[in-house]
Amino acid sequence: MQKERSNIAVFLDRDGTINEDTGYLHKPEELVIITGAAEAIRRLNSAGIKIVIVSNQSGVGRGYFTDSDVEAVNDKLVDIIGADGAKVDAVYYCNHHPDEDCGCRKPSLGMLKKASDEHGIDLKLSYVVGDKGSDIELARNAGAKSVLVLTGKGKDESMRLKNPPDFVAEDLASAVLWILDDLNRRAASLPAG
Ligand SMILES: [Mg+2]
Ligand SMILES: [Zn+2]
Repeated sequence: MQKERSNIAVFLDRDGTINEDTGYLHKPEELVIITGAAEAIRRLNSAGIKIVIVSNQSGVGRGYFTDSDVEAVNDKLVDIIGADGAKVDAVYYCNHHPDEDCGCRKPSLGMLKKASDEHGIDLKLSYVVGDKGSDIELARNAGAKSVLVLTGKGKDESMRLKNPPDFVAEDLASAVLWILDDLNRRAASLPAG
């Protein structure tokens, strides 16, 4: 019996979490998906959980590339993992310079609030997975649970986190296993009836 989980999301960082972080990636042809990422997302799809990508893309605000470059990479990513049967429910990104104080750059809550309104997501039941301290702080600001992945910048970041994540995972595949276990633990701890 599948529990109703459509109000739960896993918010995924993009660079260093789903794909290799090559530094201000803006060319779709340079996109490399991290091993096991598509399958991991497929598992969350099967569990009835929403998948929302939330990405800081300050390269736009810094003038390194444009919104259409970001969108081309996002579209290609959705296509590649889609070919492996993985579905993404929504993609949001912040294109601002860090100095702009925009309210959407992680760890600010703008993108999560928007996703919550547009997709009926309960942030407090949700998860954030990423390779940086800003992803962990984002989860904290939302009252969500956090997983730090050690891909991308994760190993370096793990040494200087302000607050510990709920779990540290080798990669997205192992993050997803932990999340699915955590959901089952939560379900088991609910009173019967
Ligand atoms: Mg990242
Ligand atoms: Zn922003």
